[in-house]
Amino acid sequence: MRYSVSTQDEFDLRDVLTRRGADRYELQARYLNPQLPRMLHAIGFDRVYTHAEGAYLYDDSGRDYLDMLSGFGVFALGRHHPVVRKAVHDALDLGLADLTQFDAPPLAGALAERLLAHVPHLDRVYFGNSGTEAVEAALKYARFATGRKRIVFCDHAFHGLTTGSLSVNGARDFRKGFGPLLPDTAVPFGDLGALERELKRGDVAAFLIEPIQGKGVAVAPPGFLRAAQELLREHKALLIADEVQCGLGRTGDFFAFQHDGVEPDLVATAKALSGGYVPVGATMGRDWIFNKVYSSMDRVLVHDSTFGSNAQAMAAGLATLHVMDAEGVVDNARKMGELLQQRLTDLVDRYELLHEVRGRGLMIGIEFGRPQSWTRRAPWTALQLARKGLFAQTVVHALFHRHGILTQVSGDHVEVIKLIPPLTIGEAEVDRFVAAFIDVMDEAHRGTPLTNSLSRDFGRMLVHQTRNR
Ligand code: PLP
Repeated sequence: MRYSVSTQDEFDLRDVLTRRGADRYELQARYLNPQLPRMLHAIGFDRVYTHAEGAYLYDDSGRDYLDMLSGFGVFALGRHHPVVRKAVHDALDLGLADLTQFDAPPLAGALAERLLAHVPHLDRVYFGNSGTEAVEAALKYARFATGRKRIVFCDHAFHGLTTGSLSVNGARDFRKGFGPLLPDTAVPFGDLGALERELKRGDVAAFLIEPIQGKGVAVAPPGFLRAAQELLREHKALLIADEVQCGLGRTGDFFAFQHDGVEPDLVATAKALSGGYVPVGATMGRDWIFNKVYSSMDRVLVHDSTFGSNAQAMAAGLATLHVMDAEGVVDNARKMGELLQQRLTDLVDRYELLHEVRGRGLMIGIEFGRPQSWTRRAPWTALQLARKGLFAQTVVHALFHRHGILTQVSGDHVEVIKLIPPLTIGEAEVDRFVAAFIDVMDEAHRGTPLTNSLSRDFGRMLVHQTRNR
């Protein structure tokens, strides 16, 4: 069958954008999640972005925005990296016989090989379509391989929002109303004693941890992961590292667990592997685990996903890893991360509302806290009584409106801003962020109570809260 030329003429994506682009917020309100446009209108983030490149977004008035959020971490290489873009075009233009479901897709093999070269102690990969799917696969593999039921996870953990991943979510607000969930158990992040108590019950399949938690940007205490690994081995339970956000160069190591010198049995990753173009998730694991799960031909599809290993996703992943190696992206993340952290840490003594700057590489948390001086303490306390996290929301708001910088508060009820910019940023972006942050902090410290513009923002934030990861 030949494709009809007239059908091709009838459909034009540019035309859809031209005709419907102006209605984007109305369409969203009517057909998708109605709270999203409400929230964006309320806080004035309802921009009409027209294009993007590298670490910058551009709106319809021509204003540029420095993107320190990178789509929750997917744009590790910035937007529209030419090598990734070409690879995705090529995957389309080659007219491949993709997703036959009865052959061995060559790009999946090549990507698995390339990914595992960065994790020599692991042997096999399962490709799904998102971070939560990568975690789901790890949970299933761990339970099946050990024959045990329970997964131990950490307070404040975020591993995705499908039901299995939700069972290991450390935030009550996300779980509420969706139960009953799996019988998993939370322990405080970094609490070895609590982990050991759970392991002694003999029914733990695995301990699941983000080496750096997205919520609050909490870094595992030094030595914790190593000690946890020893305990797990002693109790014949597995270590699963969730590297969906902190993996693939974000922390200045290829994977964040490598900084701690551990060898997790299963590693989930996603986000950046997409090159920002095609959703993908990868679960890497040891040979024996995969062999147990896929133990016979009968079990060939016992865990699988129709679109997993699709050519576009694999092409984007291969190109992303190529660029990471060829352009020294991980090294840049470490260097720029150190520079940005240092310059922000230097401000801690200058601003009493600024308590700590932490993180690793280009995964940085800026924590605000109670000021010492009485004049500033009163408005701070009032805000805390209204809702914890409002001060950080206001800083995010001011960075956006005054300085065209996109950031986020790193979770509900925390006074922490998270920075996860593209790993390709340079000194110009560091300078722009630091100068803007100083301006906003100056303003926050100047008045009693805080100046009108910031207080007005507080009011808006009180009415409309956004839930962040
Ligand atoms: N794990 C971590 C650490 C994450 O940060 C996220 C998403 O933010 C996920 C899992 C879920 O990924 P996805 O949103 O692609 O399902």
